Amino acid sequence: MLRRPSPLAAPAVEPPAEHGETLAGLVSSIEPLPVTAPTLRAYEAFSANQTLYAIAIVDVNSVPVGIINRFRFFELLSRPFGRDLLTHRAITDVMDSAPLVVDERMSLDQLSEIVVDEGNRYIFDGYIVTRDGGYLGIGTGYSLMRRLTERRQTILYHLAHHDGLTGLPNRQLFGDRLSQALAHAERYHRILAVLFVDVDRFKAVNDSLGHAAGDQMLKGVAERLREGVRAHDTVARLSGDEFALVLTELTEPLDAEVIADKLLQSLRQVHRIDKKDINLSGSIGIAVFPHDGRTGGALTRAADDALYYAKQFRNTSQRYSASMVRSAADPLLEFSTVRRALDFGELEVHYQPQVCAGTRALYGFEALVRWRGSDGFRPTPQLIRAAEDAGLISAITDVVMREAMRRLLGWRRGPAPHARLAINVSGVEMRDGALLPMLCRHLAETGFPPDALELEITESSVMRSDASSVAVLDAIKQLGIRLSVDDFGTGYSSLSQLQRLPVDAIKIDQSFVASIGDQGNGGVIAQAIIVMAHSLGLTVTGEGIEREEQAVFLEGHGCDRLQGYLMARPMAPEAIDAFLADPGLRR
Ligand code: C2E
Ligand code: MG
Ligand code: MG
Repeated sequence: MLRRPSPLAAPAVEPPAEHGETLAGLVSSIEPLPVTAPTLRAYEAFSANQTLYAIAIVDVNSVPVGIINRFRFFELLSRPFGRDLLTHRAITDVMDSAPLVVDERMSLDQLSEIVVDEGNRYIFDGYIVTRDGGYLGIGTGYSLMRRLTERRQTILYHLAHHDGLTGLPNRQLFGDRLSQALAHAERYHRILAVLFVDVDRFKAVNDSLGHAAGDQMLKGVAERLREGVRAHDTVARLSGDEFALVLTELTEPLDAEVIADKLLQSLRQVHRIDKKDINLSGSIGIAVFPHDGRTGGALTRAADDALYYAKQFRNTSQRYSASMVRSAADPLLEFSTVRRALDFGELEVHYQPQVCAGTRALYGFEALVRWRGSDGFRPTPQLIRAAEDAGLISAITDVVMREAMRRLLGWRRGPAPHARLAINVSGVEMRDGALLPMLCRHLAETGFPPDALELEITESSVMRSDASSVAVLDAIKQLGIRLSVDDFGTGYSSLSQLQRLPVDAIKIDQSFVASIGDQGNGGVIAQAIIVMAHSLGLTVTGEGIEREEQAVFLEGHGCDRLQGYLMARPMAPEAIDAFLADPGLRR
């Protein structure tokens, strides 16, 4: 009886993709012997080929009926009267008439299961492979095992380099791919981009819907990212809800931003999970080679910094820029240092005068927070960023508001009755819901007139405001407070975006003012911004004015207010007292 595999081993016509490798590749097409052949033929065949392992015996229809294994055959010959076999016995007497016969489409897994079940007998004996029942060739257990080992290594490699949930390359493989891509880009002077992608509010969704849904969501995100880029680009999952991409063969850095926006758009399409429609959004940080970094380390750090920045606004992509560099990387450290600064009263508020263009009469003061450490003042931008990181920014605004309103009230009652107050608020605060109640509380507690108050919000945060932050801005306006867009010109605002926001004023970024009088086109841009802002009915302040010619240029082009070291530096309250005591001051 032929040893035929049990139904379990019946070949699947369409092998499953993962374990679907069949043994077709492992077959040696060795000439079989007809069942009628004399035994001598087998002897001749084995003698002529020292590596011949086994010979199949087939009937007239080419259907295998037995197998002769080389070692068993020679063992028989070595017995007493063994040589008689060659001349007097039929081949059916020396063959194993119950060989393992398998179809070529059988999977390696099924075959190895049989081989193992049979105590590895067929490793030694070999097995016959058929096509449509007819003889095709012989396979050895050795090549099967070697193939399985190779495959296991491939599987192990895959497991070690891919993420189990999404099947995407993991952090390690991402690093390898990035190095390869960089070597190529370096050599052929190509542009490539690293994108870091983070799913907004993933933790909240995960917590509320459960981890199974969270997993599905991550798979969905992985799919959309994969579909959104070309085949030679890498999409990897670094951890949790953090994905990273390497985009190669770009023609210009802008390509990366265009692709990033496309990806964000596709992430925003509804995700159907557990019969529920879930809305997701993502944030993307972009770093471009060679512009933003030349090594893998530099590029991933830059992309991470850009992502950090983008995450403050959500549903947005952000290309790296040098000004994004973060101070301390450890949020706990940031938390404790900022907390200490708050608790130990290390924060002070300084005031920089703003004047009216033309008359140069005092208009008001911008409050700027100062952090006095044991070794002197520390940079304000660093403090602000650390506080944003640590979730303590509104605690800082709280301190600044109370302090500045009280000071201003004092000066308004005395030497500067019409002085107005400008306070900076961070984009992060536009979204956390604490700003509005805090404003109301301070106005009520101090009695500060809202129409003498102005809030400055940086251009990038205003432009990225979503419906809820626009609502906050509207509410602030309703209180009679003025809103101005700080650092205008550094973001990507368009007229139409400005129009839909309830802002009253803009402050031309220092960088444009700095280049007035230089060879560059700073003056031209400042001039264009003034014209544009006026056409929208907005007031314009020029800031960072250090030279008289800059002030004169801005005044000549209709700028409304001036601020900068030329007029006055930011000063501690005592110094402002002295400043206000100057009889030459126009107010
Ligand atoms: P900003 O609101 O654009 O403030 C203007 C910055 O330019 C201030 O830096 C000021 O000291 C500096 N400055 C003023 N005139 C000149 C000049 O003529 N030349 C030059 N080179 N610089 C000038 P500062 O105080 O270091 O603040 C940096 C940024 O930190 C501010 O930019 C603002 O965005 C933020 N910031 C300051 N205080 C606060 C605060 O209380 N809360 C928040 N959320 N942000 C604040
Ligand atoms: Mg400001
Ligand atoms: Mg500014």
